[in-house]
Amino acid sequence: MRIRAAIARRGDTRFSIEDCILAAEPQRREVRLRLLACGICHTDLAARDQHLRTPLPAVLGHEGVGVIEAIGSEVTGLAIGQRVLASFGACGECPSCTSHAPAYCRHLATFCLLGQRLDGSSPIGQLTGHFFGQSSFATHAIVASTNLVPLAEDLPPALMAPLACGFLTGMSAMAQVLAVGPGHAVSVSGCGGVGLAAVMAARIMGCERILAIDLQPQRLQLAMELGATATALADEQGIAAAHPIVAGWEGLTHALDTTGAPAVIEATFQRLLRPRGRMVCAGVARPDATLTLNHNALMLSGKTLRGTIEGDADPVQFVPRMIDWYRDGLLPLERLVRTYPFEAINDAVADMSAGRVIKPVLVFDPSDPSNAPVKSAPSNATVVDGP
Ligand SMILES: [Zn+2]
Ligand SMILES: [Zn+2]
Repeated sequence: MRIRAAIARRGDTRFSIEDCILAAEPQRREVRLRLLACGICHTDLAARDQHLRTPLPAVLGHEGVGVIEAIGSEVTGLAIGQRVLASFGACGECPSCTSHAPAYCRHLATFCLLGQRLDGSSPIGQLTGHFFGQSSFATHAIVASTNLVPLAEDLPPALMAPLACGFLTGMSAMAQVLAVGPGHAVSVSGCGGVGLAAVMAARIMGCERILAIDLQPQRLQLAMELGATATALADEQGIAAAHPIVAGWEGLTHALDTTGAPAVIEATFQRLLRPRGRMVCAGVARPDATLTLNHNALMLSGKTLRGTIEGDADPVQFVPRMIDWYRDGLLPLERLVRTYPFEAINDAVADMSAGRVIKPVLVFDPSDPSNAPVKSAPSNATVVDGP
């Protein structure tokens, strides 16, 4: 069937919106979606710009919300006409998938980096067309069924889309990987979409001391409005501004990094984290990024440093939890999201790159009242997302 898709042909160039042909029939464990909304994540740009191994030309996009139009023979629990959120692709059968850790799926690289089905094929002919098991920068997509999450019709698609990846990562890293709670003193370095989602989760989990660290005062202001209790303005020299705050807290019990910047990670881990403290890295760094830690200091401190993909989340379990928080008024997602018509994808990317929006989300039919309820990001904030 003929679809419209935003195609990444070369790194650091604009997406080109073109007609192309999508396989009309899903395979046995896939569905075909008509897209309503799709968030833009920094991983999309990292793939376009070839910091990842994704073959170009490609249809990217991995935060899709859509309506099921066709369904494979082995898909259970979903129906044609149902609205779903499409999180990252996973096989559903390997040891990680069957133990609720699909982010560590044996086939994650095939789906999420190479953008292929497990048999190596693409639903969009010669284009990479199954990025993160979906390729949702398009009017329609063939999507792996493993991490589809049903969405009620009253939930705004554009606000839900970032729950598929970016906000999922930040909130689950804080709530499930670090598992913070009352009495803890936490930091979040990098206040883009992932970091600000983590700040909101830390507040929801009951942390009384939440330090936001960023290069931009406007983003720190937004972090305070979303639940941070203290801020530290980083500069080219580092995060020295955080030291007096954290000293008053007798060190951090937990830290989340979303920058992927080795200097920030090393300083946070070695100088801000309390003995036996735990730190998690969730940022995407350049391929050659390397951490340097003093061995004896590590051994003597009892500290833990680990990474996470997608906040270790099983989307089928964790997305409904985030939706409950949203319904309870605890997640002001509209503060972070700004919508753009699908055809304006290059404007959305430019705004994201220039720091004018935290989380751009493409909508496919802005005239559909169920699809365009989104307020814009705060007008007083100039913000830059991601690492
Ligand atoms: Zn798997
Ligand atoms: Zn992502």
